[in-house]
Amino acid sequence: MSRTVYVNGDYLPEEEAKVSVFDRGFLMADGVYEVTSVLGGKLIDFDGHCKRLARSLTELEMTNPHSDAEWLAIHRELVARNGIDEGMVYLQVTRGNPGDRDFAYPPADTAPTVVLFTQAKPGLADSPAAKTGWRVISVPDIRWHRRDIKTVQLLYPSMAKMAAKKAGVDDAWLVEDGFVTEGTSNNAYIVKGNKIITRALSSDILHGITRAAVLRFAKEAQMEVEERNFTIDEAQKADEAFITSASAFVMPVVEIDGAAVGTGAVGRVATRMREIYLDEMRKAAV
Ligand code: PLP
Repeated sequence: MSRTVYVNGDYLPEEEAKVSVFDRGFLMADGVYEVTSVLGGKLIDFDGHCKRLARSLTELEMTNPHSDAEWLAIHRELVARNGIDEGMVYLQVTRGNPGDRDFAYPPADTAPTVVLFTQAKPGLADSPAAKTGWRVISVPDIRWHRRDIKTVQLLYPSMAKMAAKKAGVDDAWLVEDGFVTEGTSNNAYIVKGNKIITRALSSDILHGITRAAVLRFAKEAQMEVEERNFTIDEAQKADEAFITSASAFVMPVVEIDGAAVGTGAVGRVATRMREIYLDEMRKAAV
């Protein structure tokens, strides 16, 4: 069945939803995005995604085309029109269509291109993978150095995901100067005893919305949180490992580069953090 897609103020059947060949998103990857999960027809951590969107736009000197209330209304309308119970809303804002190709930014009053669409994912929260865990490989992190901006330049993460697929595993962890930065589209963690260890925020990683929530819940649950670098070797020897993202929530990692993490089974802490995250986020969903 055809989805209803949002393009620059219009709700259109997906076959009719189009943007220009001169769009800066298409020609230059000059755009930012957000992905918000939907559970029970409601948006998860919507506020967090709005704040990060605003920050990404500011960092790229782009004007936010909508207020948070307007973004919420568009998200809700799309979820309703597409009858989404569990799934995601993808949002993209590009620097628009200047009518030609040029490295220089177009005038600031050039209208941005705003596209949103839904992805239905029945069973998203009850994912079987959460019970078996992911296996990952490590690959060099050769991305640009503003990974804190959520841009649509996703070719390298896409290549890393393909390397993982070819290796028969679920994802890749990116390694720079000997330390794990993050996963292809998620933040990476290890667990040692009662301590959750994850890389500190900087321009080296995306500031995950799920990361912020999970670290808050971990502290509330009397877990210790240490924000520091770790190596693949330390991760392989840890008690547990996991990743977080808006669409995978908290996902245990049971194997890294062929070595079992801990017992090789899904860990207690990752499982508990997933439960807490989903419970709390469902309660706060809008
Ligand atoms: N790191 C990267 C590179 C990502 O692409 C993502 C999500 O797409 C994340 C981390 C997790 O961020 P969030 O929890 O906001 O989905």
